[in-house]
Amino acid sequence: MLYENYQSPWLDDELRILRDAATRFFEQEFKPHNAQWISQGKVDREAWNKAGAAGFLCAAIPTDYGGGGGDFRHETVIMEEMHRAGVGGFGNQVHSTIVAPYLLRYGTEEQRRRWLPGMATGELVGAIAMTEPDTGSDLQAVRTTAVRDGDEYVINGSKTYITNGQHADLVVVVAKTDPTQGARGISLVVVETGSSPGFQRGRNLKKLGQKSADTSELFFQDCRVPAANLLGAQEGQGFMQLMKQLPEERLSIAQSAVVAMERAIEITLEFVRERKAFGQRVLDFQNSRFKLAECKTEALVGRTFVDQCVLWLLDGRLDAATASMAKYWCTQKQCEVVDECLQLHGGAGYMDEYEISRMYADARVQKIYGGTNEIMKELIGRTFG
Ligand SMILES: Cc1cc2nc3c(=O)[nH]c(=O)nc-3n(C[C@H](O)[C@H](O)[C@H](O)COP(=O)(O)OP(=O)(O)OC[C@H]3O[C@@H](n4cnc5c(N)ncnc54)[C@H](O)[C@@H]3O)c2cc1C
Repeated sequence: MLYENYQSPWLDDELRILRDAATRFFEQEFKPHNAQWISQGKVDREAWNKAGAAGFLCAAIPTDYGGGGGDFRHETVIMEEMHRAGVGGFGNQVHSTIVAPYLLRYGTEEQRRRWLPGMATGELVGAIAMTEPDTGSDLQAVRTTAVRDGDEYVINGSKTYITNGQHADLVVVVAKTDPTQGARGISLVVVETGSSPGFQRGRNLKKLGQKSADTSELFFQDCRVPAANLLGAQEGQGFMQLMKQLPEERLSIAQSAVVAMERAIEITLEFVRERKAFGQRVLDFQNSRFKLAECKTEALVGRTFVDQCVLWLLDGRLDAATASMAKYWCTQKQCEVVDECLQLHGGAGYMDEYEISRMYADARVQKIYGGTNEIMKELIGRTFG
C-alpha cells in the first residue's frame, strides 16, 4: 500500500545510509540512558560529545567549519530518527537546526571559525534566548538590553524557558541594542557562558512533558561580552535575522509532529492487535478501525505536506505563512492523534510505562513553542491583506 511504502521525494541513497546510522546510534547510545535523563531533567553532558563524534551534530554546516557538509534533509533524517527512538529531549533541534545556522548565515567569518567547529564536535552546546518572563510572542517587546561600552557589550535582563540552558556554552541572546527603537533596535549577541562575567543559569524548570530536555531561566547582570560577539557586523539586524530563520525552525517542529503521529499509530496498532475485550481484539471494533483510519489519513496528509515544504525550503521558496501552516496544522493534529491513540490503550495509556503516555505529555508544548499556533494563524491571516 502507498502509505506503508511512501518515501519522501527528497530522500536519496546517501540519506538512507545516514538514516540507518542514526537509527542505530540513537537506539544503542541514547535510548538506554533515557529513563535516567528523564528523572534528572536533562541529558548527560557527554551525550553531546558522543553525538558530535558520531557525526550527528551540525550536519548541515559546511565541512570547512567542521560540520557534516549536508543540508536541511540531513538534519531532518537525524531529527526524525531521534524522535522515533523516543529520545527527543536531546536538544539538537535547537543546537544544529537553529543556533548553528544563525552563526553560519549571519556570523562574520571569524565568528564562524571560532564557534562552529566546537558545535559540530559537541564541545560547545548552543541555545537561543528570545523569551523573557514578561514577553514571548511579542518579540519586539523584549527588555533585555545590550549596551555598547568600549570594546564590550554590557547585557542586562533575564530569559526564561530556554532549551539547552543548563548545558549551553553559547547562548544567542535577543537583546535591544537601541531600546528607543522597536524591531530595528533588536540585535543578536552571543554570550560565551564560560567566560562572561555576569551570566548566571537559573532553575532547570519542571514541566508537564519533554522531561529529559532542560528548559531554564538565564540571568544577565552587567554581563560583559566582547563587542565582536554581536552576530553580524551591524547592530539592529536581529529581528530580521530571526524572521528569516523562523520558517526553518517551524518546519522542523512540524516534521517532528508528523514523526510523532506515525510513531503513535505504530505503537497503538501493536497494542490493539494484542488487547482483547468482549472476546475480540480491540482492533476489531469498528470504532477502533475508524479512529485509526482517521489518524493514518492525517499522518499521511501531514507527511506529504511537510515533504513539499522541505522541497520549497531547499530551493529557497518556503515563506513564513506556509511554514506557519505546517507548524500549526501538524502540531494540532499531533495532539489529536496522540490523544486518540492514548484512548485506544484504555487505562494502560495513562501509565508511565506505556510510551503513548509520555508521547501525550510531550506533544502538548508543540502547539506553544516556536511561535504559538495562534501566532501561526496570525501570520497566515496576514496573507489575506
Ligand atoms: C518546553 C519549552 C521550550 C522552549 N524553548 C525556548 C527556547 O529555547 N528559546 C526561547 O527563546 N523560548 C523558548 N520557549 C518559549 C516559547 O517560545 C514561548 O513560550 C512562546 O513563544 C509563547 O510565549 P509566552 O509563553 O510568553 O506566551 P504569551 O506570548 O504570553 O502568550 C499567551 C497566550 O496568548 C496568546 N497570544 C499572544 N499574542 C497573541 C496574538 N497576537 N493573537 C492571539 N493570541 C495571542 C498566545 O498564543 C498564548 O495562547 C520554550 C517554551 C517551552 C514551553
